[in-house]
Amino acid sequence: MKHITHNDADLTAFGKIVDGKAIAATIRQSLKSRVKKLKEQNVIPGLAVILVGDNPASAVYVRNKLRSCAELGIASSKFLFPTDASPPDILRLIEDLNANPEVHGILVQLPLPPHFNVTDILETISASKDVDGFHLYNVGGLVVGNTVFPPCTPYGVVKLLEHERVPIEGKNVVVVGASNIVGKPMALMLMQKDATVCICHAKTRDLAQFTILADILVVAAGYPKLILAPMVKTGAVVIDVGINRLPTGQLVGDVDFEEVRKKAALITPVPGGVGPMTVTMLLENTISAAERKTAKADSISI
Ligand code: NAP
Repeated sequence: MKHITHNDADLTAFGKIVDGKAIAATIRQSLKSRVKKLKEQNVIPGLAVILVGDNPASAVYVRNKLRSCAELGIASSKFLFPTDASPPDILRLIEDLNANPEVHGILVQLPLPPHFNVTDILETISASKDVDGFHLYNVGGLVVGNTVFPPCTPYGVVKLLEHERVPIEGKNVVVVGASNIVGKPMALMLMQKDATVCICHAKTRDLAQFTILADILVVAAGYPKLILAPMVKTGAVVIDVGINRLPTGQLVGDVDFEEVRKKAALITPVPGGVGPMTVTMLLENTISAAERKTAKADSISI
């Protein structure tokens, strides 16, 4: 007899495709009302985005972020620099933005050109405006379980799992990919939710021996068809973070979607899965920053 608690997803069915776009739209609706409340207090949440160089993917990401801000009523400003921009100029701009009360969030689009010291740049952003969650202070907060800016992509995955009512506590989670922006924070967030977490990376020997154990498999490696159906446990929840452009122009994830879908209980598509959630979490972090700032100002004025 299957036992499903009232709030948990039914993970005994197969191949449910998680509609990240629809979930993101629902969350954005609730964010709109938070923006409205801030506006009633004469506060317009503000995001500053710095883009250095002409990486076409970065340009697309920045365009999406700015468009999403506009849709929600978040004020955004864009600062464009050529590839040979001088790092001190960017550091000075960040200092100015740190001091600007109308800017609640600052984001430097990565990757930066090779002559930049990324750590220097990220550490210059005020920890209270670090909406990407990459400042060491916020990374430390993540480790001890109380960061105020969870990094957007893994935060989006957590929100997807919550929305689909996937139980996390006590589950075996395998995260494939150990980057600072996706894999590591993902593992920490799910560990914080009492999952048993294993992280795999490029030097993991026999990846399948780990992935097959996963109740929840999160894949963020950047290789098409890295995860094939025999590597996945029947009834697993499969979250595909990867974004790969095939020579045909098609956009695919890291998971063999059609085959894995037949075994998985839930699976995210690419595109339309994790992607829309990432930008939504950036908006949420920006609004939260504005709310915190406003609450602080209120409590000081009392
Ligand atoms: P990254 O910095 O290149 O990191 C990739 C990670 O995967 C590394 O830890 C690497 O291991 C590991 N890896 C590489 N090949 C592997 C293999 N064969 N088996 C197991 N692990 C392997 O990339 P990232 O920034 O984390 O992004 C990962 C993917 O997610 C990319 O496709 C990216 O485009 C996508 N992404 C999507 C979103 C979204 O919103 N949907 C957001 C961010 C990133 P080592 O550490 O040993 O090198």
